[in-house]
Amino acid sequence: MNQSTTDSKPRVRFAPSPTGMLHVGGARTAIYNWAFARHNGGTFVLRIDDTDPERSTKENTQIILRAMSWLGLDWDEGPCLDDGGQERSEGDYGPYFQTQRSDFYAQALQKMRDNGSAYPCFCTPEELTAKREAAKQAGVAYEGYDRSCRNLDPAVAQARIDAGEPHCWRLKVPLDHGPVEFDDAVRGRLSFPIDVLDDFVLVRSDGTPTYNFASVVDDACMGITHIIRGDDHISNTPKQILVFEALGAPLPTFAHLSMIWGPDGKKLSKRHGATSVEEYKAQGYLPEVMVNYLALLGWALAGETTKFSKDTLCEHFTLDHISKNPAIFDAEKLDWLNSVYIREFSPDEFLEHLVPHLIAAGLCTQQEVEDKRDWFLGIRPLIFERIKRMTEAPAMVAYLFSGPTVSLDEASVAKVLAKEGSKAILEALEQALAADDLEWDAAAIEAALRALPPALGQKPKTVFQVARVALCGNMVSPPLFESIHLIGREDSIARLKAAESAAM
Ligand code: GLU
Repeated sequence: MNQSTTDSKPRVRFAPSPTGMLHVGGARTAIYNWAFARHNGGTFVLRIDDTDPERSTKENTQIILRAMSWLGLDWDEGPCLDDGGQERSEGDYGPYFQTQRSDFYAQALQKMRDNGSAYPCFCTPEELTAKREAAKQAGVAYEGYDRSCRNLDPAVAQARIDAGEPHCWRLKVPLDHGPVEFDDAVRGRLSFPIDVLDDFVLVRSDGTPTYNFASVVDDACMGITHIIRGDDHISNTPKQILVFEALGAPLPTFAHLSMIWGPDGKKLSKRHGATSVEEYKAQGYLPEVMVNYLALLGWALAGETTKFSKDTLCEHFTLDHISKNPAIFDAEKLDWLNSVYIREFSPDEFLEHLVPHLIAAGLCTQQEVEDKRDWFLGIRPLIFERIKRMTEAPAMVAYLFSGPTVSLDEASVAKVLAKEGSKAILEALEQALAADDLEWDAAAIEAALRALPPALGQKPKTVFQVARVALCGNMVSPPLFESIHLIGREDSIARLKAAESAAM
C-alpha cells in the first residue's frame, strides 16, 4: 500500500453503489459515518463504488451526491458535486471512484500473487455452471468453488496466462487459519469457521475487481479505520478480513447496523411507500428532519430526546449507543417530527422554507417576496400549526393570491351561499370592511365583523361562514380575520361583491 494514515483520528467512509437513488437505509449509514467522524474530529470520506458497469450510472452518482448535500452531510474527501459528469475527486487518497482506481487493484493483486495469497483460475463459466448443476442433480449442497485450479503448478499456470487463456484471480483461503473472528462494535464478537469460506474471485476474467476485493483495497489504501455499514454485509466481512490480512493491512473496526424494517417487520421496501431520500424531499420533508429521524432508527440520545439538531447529534454520537435490534420506519412519527420542526421555526425560517414551494406552485416570484416581506411573513400564523409538510402549504394559501376573485367551492356555495339571507350578509360585510374608520389589521377587522351578527339578527356562525366562503372560497380555510387582513381591503370587497351572484 502506498498510502497510510498519518494521524490517529478516525477515517470513515460511506461507499454507495450508484445503481439507484439514495435509499433511506443508505442515508442512515451515511449519517452515522458522518456523525462519527464529526464527533471524533475525524475524516468523512465519500467513495463511489461504481464497479458494476451495467447498473452504475453518472446520473445516479449525481443524485446521490445531491441527496447527501441536501441532507447536509458534507464530506471531507470524495467526488466533486455537480461537476458536469466529469467525476473529479478532491482529497489526498483519491480518486474516489472505483472505476478510476484500477492501478491500485492491479498493485494489490500483484502483491497477493507475490505472497501466494491469490491464484489464477482457468475454469470457464460453463464448467462452473456444470459443477453447480451436478451438485444439484446429486442432491448435495454446492459448497462453492472446488478449488480445482488452486494447486496448479505455478509454471503451468503462468504458461497458460502467457498463452492468453482467460482466467480470473481467486483468494487462496488459508485453510489452516482457524476461525475468522472480529469484535463488531455493535454486535460484539463474531466468529466464522474458515472452512465455510470460498476461494472467492478477487479479479474477474475481464480484469475488473469484485466488490470484496476493491472495497478492501480501497479501505486499506484510504486508511479507513472504521467500517460502519448495513448488516447485509456481515457475511462479506470474514472474506474481507482475509484480504486485509493477505495485503498485510491493519484491520479496521467493523460496526454493522441492523436493517430498517417496515411496520410489518419486513425489510423496508417500495411496498412500504417512499424509500429514497429524493422522494422524501419531493414530499416536503425537511432535510434536518430526515437526518434527525433517520439517526433515531437504531441510535438514541441519552434521555430519549427525540428532536435534536445535527450539532447535538455530532456532539453525542458514539457507536456504543447503536442498537442491535432492527428499527421500524414509522411514517407517522416522521410526519409528526416534521410538523414539530415546522411549528418551531422562527417566522424568518418558516418563510425561507415556504417560499420555494409558493414559487414552484406559481403563486408568487422571489421578487414579490422581497418587495412585500411583511405581507409574506403574515402567512405563517395562518398555517404553521396545521401543516405537517411545507408541500401542503400552497394549496392551503392559494386563496390569498387570487386578487379580486376567488374560485368558489361548489359544495360550499350550495351549503352556505345559496341560502336565504346570504346576500344581506354579504352587503353588510362589504359595508363593514369599507368603513373609513376601520383600521386595517386583523384585530380591528375581527371587532368590526363580530358586531354584525347581532345587528343582522343572525348567528355568528352563519355570518362568518358566508364571509369565509365568499372570501376564501370554501368552508375550511385558515383563520378568517387574519386571512381578510392579508387579502386586503379592496380585493376583499371585490370578492364579497362577486359572491353576490351566487347568493340569495
Ligand atoms: N458499495 C457497497 C454498498 O453500497 C458498500 C458496502 C460497504 O460499505 O462496504 O452496499
